[in-house]
Amino acid sequence: MTFYIMTLFPDMIDAVMGESIIGRAIENGLLSVKTYNIRDFAFNKHSRVDDYPYGGGAGMLMQAEPVWQTYQAILKDSGKDCLPVVYLSPKGQIFDQEKARIYAACDDLVLLCGHYEGIDERILEEIVTEEISIGDFVLTGGEIPAMAVVDTVARLLPGVLHNDESAETESFSDGLLEYPQYTRPEIWHDKRVPEILLSGHHANVEKWRHMEALKVTAQKRPDLLDSVSLTSEEAEAVADILQS
Ligand code: SAM
Repeated sequence: MTFYIMTLFPDMIDAVMGESIIGRAIENGLLSVKTYNIRDFAFNKHSRVDDYPYGGGAGMLMQAEPVWQTYQAILKDSGKDCLPVVYLSPKGQIFDQEKARIYAACDDLVLLCGHYEGIDERILEEIVTEEISIGDFVLTGGEIPAMAVVDTVARLLPGVLHNDESAETESFSDGLLEYPQYTRPEIWHDKRVPEILLSGHHANVEKWRHMEALKVTAQKRPDLLDSVSLTSEEAEAVADILQS
């Protein structure tokens, strides 16, 4: 899969994406992250890409034309006539694991990072297929949200995670939050690892983990349970947790 990122700060993205699991995946050719500096497509001698908003108001807006030219360069490099463009924006639909799974099925995705007060609406109308927010708060730019999207999607791509880093049992994979986990030592600060995890009884461990996942979800994010179908035993356990 190839991510094309339109940004005014490509160094921010290159620095982070070269590290850890994503850096390793890029090195192994499992995904590619190509940054495009919108400033390279400025059409004035000072390389300015922002201007005052019509009608007045605080701050500056990114102009449409440099973004358009950046998109044209991406199309040329990709050899495609058109590509889906996701604009990272606080006005967008909230990004979640389900959306990440949809993106992970794409071959190419263009991410557009805004800055300052945002971007001239006309370019958004012209090229953006979807607006995505990473939460109900406002950041200074779209680079951190874009990296959050790349990181989340990348770890769903085949081969990116090793078996011991599997995404299959993680929070949201089955609609529930993940069960609690423990590693050595067996006793730490007088707290023991739950006995069942030392039993070697795989089926019992799985059952315990599932019930713990239900418990954690009921305690921390009961809203998620609305879209999970529960057995009567599970529903009873959840009701007990919610009452206590
Ligand atoms: N004036 C805009 C508004 O009120 O909706 C906010 C602009 S923000 C300061 C600058 C850029 O940061 C946006 O164009 C967007 O790309 C990015 N951004 C800020 N918050 C974001 C969020 N919660 N999710 C995704 N992108 C965000």
